[in-house]
Formats: sequence, structure tokens, C-alpha cells
Amino acid sequence: MAEKFIIENDCLTIGGIPISRLAQQIGQTPFFAYSRELIDRQVNLLRTHTPEKISIHYAIKANPFVPVIHHLSRLVEGFDVASANEMALALNSGVSPEDISFAGPGKTVEELQRAVAAQVLLNVESVTELHRIKAIAAEYGIAARVSLRINPDYNLNSSGMKMGGGPRQFGMDVSCVQEAMMVIRDNSEQLHFEGFQIFPGSQNLRADFLIEAQSKALDLVIELAKIAPGPVRRFNLGGGFGVPYFQGDKELDVASVGEAMHVLVAKAEQYLPEAEIILELGRFLVAPGGIYVAKIIDRKVSHGVTYLVADGGMNHHLAASGNIGQLIRRNYPAVIGNKVQGQQREVANVVGPLCTPLDILLNQGDVAVAEPGDYIVIFQSGAYGLTASPNGFLSQKSAAEVLV
Ligand SMILES: *Cc1c(COP(=O)(O)O)cnc(C)c1O
Repeated sequence: MAEKFIIENDCLTIGGIPISRLAQQIGQTPFFAYSRELIDRQVNLLRTHTPEKISIHYAIKANPFVPVIHHLSRLVEGFDVASANEMALALNSGVSPEDISFAGPGKTVEELQRAVAAQVLLNVESVTELHRIKAIAAEYGIAARVSLRINPDYNLNSSGMKMGGGPRQFGMDVSCVQEAMMVIRDNSEQLHFEGFQIFPGSQNLRADFLIEAQSKALDLVIELAKIAPGPVRRFNLGGGFGVPYFQGDKELDVASVGEAMHVLVAKAEQYLPEAEIILELGRFLVAPGGIYVAKIIDRKVSHGVTYLVADGGMNHHLAASGNIGQLIRRNYPAVIGNKVQGQQREVANVVGPLCTPLDILLNQGDVAVAEPGDYIVIFQSGAYGLTASPNGFLSQKSAAEVLV
């Protein structure tokens, strides 16, 4: 992973700044640093390969750091949000409510009220939710914009986190769509139908699975469009583009997926001529551009095993500790940031400061020999980092965040 970054005097840089100087500038460790340039690179990679007609939406939950959202607001066509607070972040970035969609299986009435008032698109997750939206729209005297989130009968086979196929808390089963359509038809003053969302899974590195899922999603939407109360104006075909985290993971072949999307768009133009086709991505856009940096505060040997104790760990970066989404714990890519190669190397365990054996950043990692004062850097940390971690655990200080 270090190859994506410039190394100066054996020190990793991000945004042109050596991480040791960045630590001084921020005034504390641990911190997350995100690179504009590396985020741009991911967006450009997508633009190079996907049809011009595809809209890219950023799923804010991957990284809600405000400067990241604002940076992306100039690069993508819209945002997907999963809470009213994320909706507020999206609206504050200046993106039009027209291009904000709100998904999530547990939207509260208060959140639905705010969303209806803001006129963002609601990705409806159940027929009962549809009724709640209708009631709010009637009370407010405006039409709510709705799109049906469908739980398809298939899923993304190799997806790390399955979110469709079989029983799910997300979206509505295909068998419920007819009823939802009737509710929309019967309440056309309150419910403005715009289309469908299908999100079958996350963190997929297999181009063939993604291509198959997208093609199935299109076929399903073409079928459902036949019973829809109006033309499909938005077809959100999910995302699920993964990034490599572990040894042996290969980069997603974006060129292949993009090539298939040209075929997909041609077919969609024929059957869904009014539809904007939306690809919603979180981690793919932001994970590679982020690093987590903690300072090593102790070095000790226990029964022949070297431990480097850092000033942050799972409390800021649960995913890297292996305690979320991993069945077998594997190391995120990592280096000693100020000694990328180092004079000498060793095998060491890098742990965080918490009083729990779960707080591991690196298990038997091959790293430069490090001392207190050196920095451990975890790559692929721009998504599902700080806000996906138990910040309050053991009441340690929070990590800082910067966009450089
Ligand atoms: C989480 C989520 C995303 C983003 O997933 P990534 O793996 O980060 O790309 C997109 N859409 C929906 C509906 C989600 O729940």
C-alpha cells in the first residue's frame, strides 16, 4: 500500500507532508489523515471506465468528516445518507436535495418529517414506512419523493457483507412491491414515485460478481417498472465496489465492470428511457485515501514476542483491530511511518492502549524496528474508521482528523 504514497527520507508523506511533521501540525496523535489527491484518483478511475451517463453518489456513512464530504460534493453527482444527521451534512455541503437519497431500515418519524420537508428522495424500506411517509406528506401538504428499496431474491456471492437475498432487514421483498405500488397510486398527491434502489452487498472485489448483480438488478427493475405508477426516473443499482485490505486481495478490475456498464446503460436506455442510473459507493471512494497514525509509546518483550504499544487502537479503528466484519483476524497493511524501510526489520505485534486483548493493530507484522516516539501507520483507513469505532471505550482521547 505504501506504493501509493510518496516516501521522503524513509518517511511516509500524505498530501505532500511527512507524517511526522503532520503530527506536529495537528498537535496530537492519534489521527486520521485523508488525501484529496487519492480521493480524486478513485473518482477519476471510475470516470475513466464507467459510462458518462452513470451518476456517482457518495454514501456518507463510509466517512462523514465534513471536509471530505465538501471535497466530494464537487466531484460526485449526489449523496446517499442513512440518518437525518447525515442528511444535514449533505444539505450543508450545498448538494441539491434533488440529488440526496435517504436509506435505512429504521428511519424514525422525526427523521421522515425532516426528509419530507427537505424534499430529499426517500428510499423506502417497507410498506409500513410508506404509510408513515404518506401521513407526513399529507400533514405538510407536500408530495414526498419516494423510491422503493428492493431486497432482491439473489445476493452478491462473494460479498463481505451481504445485504440482499433471503430474509433481510433491508428493503422490501419483491412480493411486497405490488402492495407498495397500490399505496403510491392511491396517494398520488402525497407520494411521488421516482424509482428503485437495489443494494445487494458491500466490499466486493470480484468484477464478475458485480457485473452479474448489476445485470440482475436491471432485469428486476425492468420487470417492476411494468407495474410502477409512473416512469422510473432513478435507478440506484447499489455499489459494493471493494478495496483490497489483506494480503492476497486483488484490486477490483474497474475496467471490466465499467465495460459491462456500457452494455447495461444501453439496455437501460431502451427499457427505462427516463432513468438516471446511480452507482452509490462509500469505501471505494475514500478508503484508499486515508491513513490512521498512532504514536508508539512503549516497546517490550513478552516470552520472546516483541510488543509495540501505540497511543490508539481499536477505540479509533475497530476494523483494523479485526473486531468488525472479519471471521479470522488479518492485518491491515501497515508500516512504521517514519521508518518505512528502516535500518533493521523485525516481527512485532502492535497493540493499542486499551486494557483488552482485542486491541490489536498488527499481529506478527513485518515492520522496521521501532522505538517509542515512532509512528505506526495503518493504510486503507479512509472508510469506516473513526465513526465506525467505539470511541468511548475506556474513555481514551479521540483521534484527530485532517484532509490534506
Ligand atoms: C453502506 C451502504 C453503502 C456504501 O457501502 P460501501 O461498501 O462503503 O460502498 C451504499 N449504499 C447503501 C444503501 C449502504 O447501506
